[in-house]
Order: sequence, then C-alpha cells, then structure tokens
Amino acid sequence: MVRYTGNKCKLCRREGMKLFLKGQRCFADKCALARRDYPPGVHAQKRTKVTEYGVRLREKQKLKRIYGVQEKQFKLYFKEAERLKGNTGENLLMLLERRLDNVVLASGFALSRNHARQLINHGHFRVNGRRVDIASFSVRPGDTIEPGTKENTRKIVSEAIEINKSQPVPAWIESSHATLTSKVTGIPKREDVPHPIQEQLIIELCSK
Ligand code: SF4
Repeated sequence: MVRYTGNKCKLCRREGMKLFLKGQRCFADKCALARRDYPPGVHAQKRTKVTEYGVRLREKQKLKRIYGVQEKQFKLYFKEAERLKGNTGENLLMLLERRLDNVVLASGFALSRNHARQLINHGHFRVNGRRVDIASFSVRPGDTIEPGTKENTRKIVSEAIEINKSQPVPAWIESSHATLTSKVTGIPKREDVPHPIQEQLIIELCSK
C-alpha cells in the first residue's frame, strides 16, 4: 500500500485547516499553518475559482488525511457505511472513529496517529488480551485496549499519557491512565467526532 511519507504540515496547508498530524506540535506556536496560512507550491497564492466538485473533493481528502486512509480503503469504508442502517455520512465517520489506531490515539496512549499506528504494527497493543497488529482493526463496544506487558512498551505509553494529559478522551471511551487500559463503552456518535468535516459533501461526491 502506498503511504504518504512527505511533509505532513503541507497536507494541512493544502486543506487550509489543522489536521493534527504531528501530535503536540499541532497545539504549539510551531504549527506551520499558523505561520504560513496558504497552500504549498510555487503558484499557491494565485486566486483560483474552486468548482463545486473541487469543494467536495477537498472535503473527502481532508477526511482521508485526518484518519490516514488511502483511497482504496476509503471506498471500502464508504461501501460499508452505505450498507449500514441510518445516515451514511455519520456511519462513515463512526467506522473511521472505531479504527484501533484512532482509539489508541484518542485514549492518549500515543503522541500522534502515525505513532499509534507504528505501536500497533509492532505488536505493542492488545484487544481483549489478544495481540492485535492491524491499525484498521475495528473495535466494538465492550472491547478493552491495553499495551503489552513489556516494560519498554508500558514506558512509551506512560510517557505519551503524561504528554497528552490535557487532551479530553471522547465519551465513548473509558480510559484509565493508572492501569493503562481503555474500554470502549459504546458506538461513537456524530458529536463525538472532533473534526469539522461536512460529511454530506463527501456523500454527494461518492454517491455518484
Ligand atoms: Fe498540521 Fe500544524 Fe500539526 Fe503541522 S503542526 S501537522 S500544520 S496541525
């Protein structure tokens, strides 16, 4: 799978909003968007008229970039969101929120989404006591997520918790920082999604 390994701040500048891809740096004055509030590239500051299609496309790209999902995987999420009962846009967000890398990050166990993904890929996390090394693993209500028992793993997670202690944990996750354990207590709702995404635009684009 091709993964973007370039400058992450350029992605935020391209979308014109913070995508929070670099952990604590995103909350500091060092955020590139705060200093260069225009898209990257030589001709970036030229005014161009954005088409209706362009607006919808950018909304989709924002969502994919926030959750670090590639186009192929995104299409699978969209299909699944359409298949499920209820509002397709909300289903789509709910499916992305339930990814294991998102839960690890939201619990404060990692410094950024990439960090969460790396820890999971290297087998540092367990779901219901069993090692899971797939970042896209979809958690369910009742699942318990915790780091493995290795001293180094627990040290990394403890340090991340200390750095993230001011970040709120979403209502559908119950996180105990003392025992380094998180429990999924429900299905995420639309109001639990912390990103200003207009999912209706994405649905209009992808339903064609
Ligand atoms: Fe985006 Fe700012 Fe974080 Fe860079 S530091 S990834 S521009 S939010």
